[in-house]
Amino acid sequence: MTDIGFIGLGNMGGALARRLLKDFTLYVWDLNRSAVEVLVDEGAIAADGPDGVGASGADFIITCLPTSAQVDEVIFSSNGLVSTISSGALIADMTTGDPMLTKNMAARLVKNGIDLIDAPVSGGVAGAEAGTIAIMIGGPAQLFEKAKSVFEAISPNIFHAGEVGAGHSMKLINNMISSCIRLATFEGLALATKVGIEPIRFAEILAKGSARGYIADTTLPTHIIPGRLEQGFGLALMHKDLMLATKLGQDMKAPLTTGNYAREVFQMALNELGEDVDISQIIKIFERAAGVDICEAQQSFQR
Ligand code: NAD
Repeated sequence: MTDIGFIGLGNMGGALARRLLKDFTLYVWDLNRSAVEVLVDEGAIAADGPDGVGASGADFIITCLPTSAQVDEVIFSSNGLVSTISSGALIADMTTGDPMLTKNMAARLVKNGIDLIDAPVSGGVAGAEAGTIAIMIGGPAQLFEKAKSVFEAISPNIFHAGEVGAGHSMKLINNMISSCIRLATFEGLALATKVGIEPIRFAEILAKGSARGYIADTTLPTHIIPGRLEQGFGLALMHKDLMLATKLGQDMKAPLTTGNYAREVFQMALNELGEDVDISQIIKIFERAAGVDICEAQQSFQR
């Protein structure tokens, strides 16, 4: 059976690696030693650097890192994967990355006899843990089939988006859409709260009407209304996705008026809230603008 290397054990990478651990031997690496230790306690084998992952003999290597810049580093730096990995290996990049850089990395790896596909995910850490996350793959059909046999341990929702880079393009467009919906829904929730509608009732009604979706049926009741502003996805990571999506729009000459607006709101939120906050904290911008406290308003209905 295939042994797997896994590089990048953060909020998402850790959750995906944990699902693979049930079916595969996993060689893991992350700059954060404590993230490695958590996985080792659950049965993974610690590698000593990206070259250690390559030297393990694993021929299916997964990366799940903040951006394509770190993916390039762990593959091509002096102690990178290419220094030790065997010809014929497959790298599957589950980072939400830059499609152009991904195509470039895939082309550079050809001379080493190594394939690279993009396989980003959507559905959040909760979706990864529940085994329902969507995986969208960019690469040739035969590599899609090879990757699918491994990714089935993570989720049955595996899609072939197209050639190398198409998975990343699909993921960026998905996140641009979900960001626009997030902003519109938070704005509406602030208004509804000000009008005097109970926040949780707002979410319930929204989730059954024409504005329904993940933000209405999951994000509002689980995180925003109870004030649990920690959904395991960094605000800065979503801003990165919006930067990449709107750059793709510019490159393709496809106007993105709503997507560019969302990117600017996320920039404003980053400046105001800081680089290290969770995405759900963006509700504070809307609460302040409308002069409401959603969590407090909800509690007042329960008293
Ligand atoms: P994270 O910030 O929680 O974790 C990133 C991990 O990468 C950290 O553990 C860090 O130490 C490690 N790292 C950084 N540079 C490294 C390097 N050079 N070598 C080895 N390790 C390195 O991020 P995350 O939430 O796990 O997200 C990872 C990717 O998945 C991002 O591209 C993100 O956009 C995407 N994603 C995340 C979510 C989510 O809900 N968290 C959902 C979908 C997609």
